[in-house]
Amino acid sequence: MTLGKKGTWAACTFVGFLIVAAGVALDRALGTRLAFTLAALAVATVYLGWSFGLAMPLLRTRVDRIRQPGSFSLTFDDGPDPRNTAEISELLALRDHRATFFVLGAAARRHPELVAKVHDDGHEIAVHGYDHRLLAFSLPSVVRRQVEETEAAVLAATGRPPVRLFRAPHGVRSPWLATTLKRRGYRLCGWDGRIFDTANPGIPTIVARVRHMLAAGAVILLHDGDGSGKGASRRQTVDALPAILDDAEARGLHSIRLSALLSTGEGSSVPPREPPRGRRRSASERETPA
Ligand SMILES: [Zn+2]
Repeated sequence: MTLGKKGTWAACTFVGFLIVAAGVALDRALGTRLAFTLAALAVATVYLGWSFGLAMPLLRTRVDRIRQPGSFSLTFDDGPDPRNTAEISELLALRDHRATFFVLGAAARRHPELVAKVHDDGHEIAVHGYDHRLLAFSLPSVVRRQVEETEAAVLAATGRPPVRLFRAPHGVRSPWLATTLKRRGYRLCGWDGRIFDTANPGIPTIVARVRHMLAAGAVILLHDGDGSGKGASRRQTVDALPAILDDAEARGLHSIRLSALLSTGEGSSVPPREPPRGRRRSASERETPA
C-alpha cells in the first residue's frame, strides 16, 4: 500500500503523537514529572521537521556550493512530459542555460525520446523516484527499487545512467532515506524557497517568486510534469521561463547543472559552459548532508 500526500502527513503526525505519548507514559511510570514528555516533544518535532523539511530554513545544513557570482541552478521535477519538457529543454539550450531534470522513472520509460532530447540539449538527468510515491515509510529495499528502475529507464533512453542526485517526492523523507541513497552513491537534494508553480498561481506570480529567489548558488525548483499522474498543466511554468531567464541574465546569472553547483564532480551529459573557477565557500542549503 502506498500512502498519498495527506495520508503520509497524517501517518507521520500519528508517529509524532506516539512519541509524545511514550514520553508522557514514561514520566507517569517513573514519576519524573515532565522530563520525558519534553524530551519526547523535542524528538517528535525533529522527526516531523526532518520528514517534511527539505525546503525548510530551520533545517538548513551547510554544504559546499559554488558561490561564484554568475551561477545558479534551475531544476525541473516530475517529467518528462510531452507537453512541456522538449520546449523547456530547447529554450534553455537556445539561451545557453543548463538545467537538471529530476525525472520519474515511469515517465522516462513512457517517453525515452524526451529524456534523450534533454540529455542531447546538454542538460542533466537526475532521479525523482520511479512513480512519485512518498517515501516517508518506504523500506530501503523499496527506495533502492525506485532508484534502480529509474536508472534503467534513463540508461535505456540515453545510454548513460542518471547523475547521482535524488530529490524526494514532495521533499518527504524517512530517517533512513539519505543513508539508503548514500549507499548507492546518491545525494539527497533540496531546493530554495517556495515557488509553488504546480498550484498555477499565474505567470507573473511565478516570475516574481523566482525573481525573489534568484542569487548566486540558488537552487530553483520548477516542474515540467505532474507527479500525481493527473496530468495537470504546467503551461504557466513554460510560459514564465523566458521572463525568468531575462531576470537571471539581467543579474548576470547563468543556470548550470546542479551537480556542478554542488561540486559533486559528476556530470552525465556533454559539459555545458563551465562555471567560472573561483573559491568555494560553505553555503546554506536545504538538503541532507551528503
Ligand atoms: Zn515531484
